[in-house]
Amino acid sequence: MTDSVKQSDSATPSGLPLHTYWLPIPPATSVPRFTMSRVVPDTAVEAEACANCGKEGNDDSVKLKNCTACFLVKYCSVDCQKAHRKKHKKACKERVAELKDEKLYGQGHERPLEDFCPICTLPIALPMESNSGFMVCCTTKVCAGCGLAAHKRGMLGKCPFCRTPSRDIMKSTLAMVQKRMKANDPQAFRFLASTHYFGTYGSAKDVPRAIELWREAAKLGSLEAHLMLGDQYMRGEAVAKDEAKAVEYWEVAAMQGHVESRHNLGIYESNNRNNERAVRHLMISAKMGYKESLDTIKEMFADGHALKQQYAEALAGYQIAVEETKSPDRDEYRQGNFKKSVY
Ligand SMILES: [Zn+2]
Ligand SMILES: [Zn+2]
Ligand SMILES: [Zn+2]
Ligand SMILES: [Zn+2]
Repeated sequence: MTDSVKQSDSATPSGLPLHTYWLPIPPATSVPRFTMSRVVPDTAVEAEACANCGKEGNDDSVKLKNCTACFLVKYCSVDCQKAHRKKHKKACKERVAELKDEKLYGQGHERPLEDFCPICTLPIALPMESNSGFMVCCTTKVCAGCGLAAHKRGMLGKCPFCRTPSRDIMKSTLAMVQKRMKANDPQAFRFLASTHYFGTYGSAKDVPRAIELWREAAKLGSLEAHLMLGDQYMRGEAVAKDEAKAVEYWEVAAMQGHVESRHNLGIYESNNRNNERAVRHLMISAKMGYKESLDTIKEMFADGHALKQQYAEALAGYQIAVEETKSPDRDEYRQGNFKKSVY
């Protein structure tokens, strides 16, 4: 919240420096506006006393310290905090959950950088794997439209982004990946993990190794690796089943805009009959252009677990997101029979 306020103070919609854009525009009205900020001092004062003994804080002897979990109350001493613990526990826990939810549902509404095609700079339509190709040479995901455009320009048998010949890519896929791994490229770890998971590209099928590599990729910031690890913990086949851990992986990725992780959180909540939480997640992923989320909301609406209004809102948002992924080249790809041969 404070971040966005700060931003609007210093930046302008057009990106022009403040003095050329912002200042010459007169205020919309000359009537002084009374905003919510006027009430802040009152609530702030209210909290300036120890929640246990009521002692007010001052500059010298009484220094009040926040409950670092909820920031709702202050204490003059560790003893007062201990004495108050029983009384405060419930409110504290509730507020901590509330703060977590604010972040969980408030962040990650935009697609992450790794979801954008580096050539046309548009977000890649979902699901990504059917609308883009992963280039091991430069570890980028190039959209099908740009693949087709390169093909039409006569750039045959080359990576549309870095122009490495496909022949070389085929011959030394794993060597290229290993080179990128030395540079700590999360996409390279993620890719090698999947080759071990499926036993493709000359890698031995080795699920524990895949999990190890996903862990490295996740540490380096790959959101897709978070998705896969969450999936592993939820299924509990190659690792001990741990739903809390699975949810944690998906939450971290979802808060950074990873759509499938967000969708999975919605499904998880729905499976646990937490319909309200399920819809909150699914609305976000549907509005980011994920059809499965939209379809799930539709089903939930049919079963009486979501409101008609929620479905309508999800549908409208979904359509806007899908429009944003369209381009003439991509449309042509979708209509034609080019499929994977364009890369
Ligand atoms: Zn006290
Ligand atoms: Zn607290
Ligand atoms: Zn593109
Ligand atoms: Zn390339």
